[in-house]
Amino acid sequence: MKPPVYLDANATTPLSREAMEEMMPALAGVFANPSSVHKPGQDARALVDAARERCARALGCAPREVIFTSGGTESDALGILGTRPRRVVTTAVEHPAVLGACEAVPERTLVPVFASGELDLDALRRALPGASLCSAMAANNETGVIFPLGEIAALCREHGVPLHVDAVQAAGKIPLDFPWDLISLSAHKIEGPKGAGALASRRRITPLQGGGHQERGRRSGTENVAGIAGMGKALERAVARQPALASRLGVLRDRLQAAAKEIPGARIAGEGAPRLCNTLNVAFPGCEGETLLAALDLEGIAASAGSACSSGSLEPSPVLLAMGYPPQLARGAVRFSLWSGNTEEEIDRVCEVLPRVVQRARS
Ligand code: PLP
Repeated sequence: MKPPVYLDANATTPLSREAMEEMMPALAGVFANPSSVHKPGQDARALVDAARERCARALGCAPREVIFTSGGTESDALGILGTRPRRVVTTAVEHPAVLGACEAVPERTLVPVFASGELDLDALRRALPGASLCSAMAANNETGVIFPLGEIAALCREHGVPLHVDAVQAAGKIPLDFPWDLISLSAHKIEGPKGAGALASRRRITPLQGGGHQERGRRSGTENVAGIAGMGKALERAVARQPALASRLGVLRDRLQAAAKEIPGARIAGEGAPRLCNTLNVAFPGCEGETLLAALDLEGIAASAGSACSSGSLEPSPVLLAMGYPPQLARGAVRFSLWSGNTEEEIDRVCEVLPRVVQRARS
């Protein structure tokens, strides 16, 4: 029995050996509280400081701008609610972490996308006047569609609106060279540990929870030293490997996409739009995504329907609906998302199995 072909990297990735090694001291000997003034405490503080330096270098910001969190969801909540906005402008296809945080803002505007998944920049331009924050993702978790952050940032600047970017899916896949005022990251999408992330902020942040004065008073709670060490290494590594990885994964994804397109009726989300190198979201009319996933699983192929948070429910993906998919077609969508460990042989196996599995799911 061959090991499963793991094609669900946008849900999570395995922990790299490098990130694990960076975490080991904190899991073993260096146990003290980084806020303690004694030597053991200072040893733990040194691990946190080193990770902060790494993140700052990877993001091109100052170390003091980096706030460690429990992951992408918390970074989004802190980035959005921590700036205390009165009116937020965001997009119709954001991750539930962003949309959920925006629910708590007194006023919000959702900017629509086109059928291609690309953002309606004219609608954004109209929405910005008078807004206190704009939150836009760098790349979509379900379709991989990349938003033009240079243009979005220019519009925000024009209207004096700070920009929060959810870069959870973009990190390690495209350069993080776009402008931002606040940026959210998560370690487990870039071969780091689960339950660790960062928000970098050039704006004043009001903490969401009271407590100690960790993270310069912006995020209370004793630091997850091992998670932070893993986050620092994962981000450093993701940024360093990004160009080479993007070209390799792009070739594999395109090969899988070509095979999927051979299947009658297949519809690729965001085809023709700028898209992440690793993501393929394809809908097959006449079958349920959940049935397809189960059939793929039996063949040893791990993929996903829409976002992991909504799988298990038969609701069609709000992202695909926002792109104008009829609900029935959206229900037939599966997402393949590749990671650095995928091989040509694995992709060839999926290309071979897919037509048969779709045919079976359709009947
Ligand atoms: N933002 C995006 C775009 C995501 O894809 C995810 C996770 O899927 C998150 C935020 C939440 O990240 P985390 O799982 O670290 O809370």
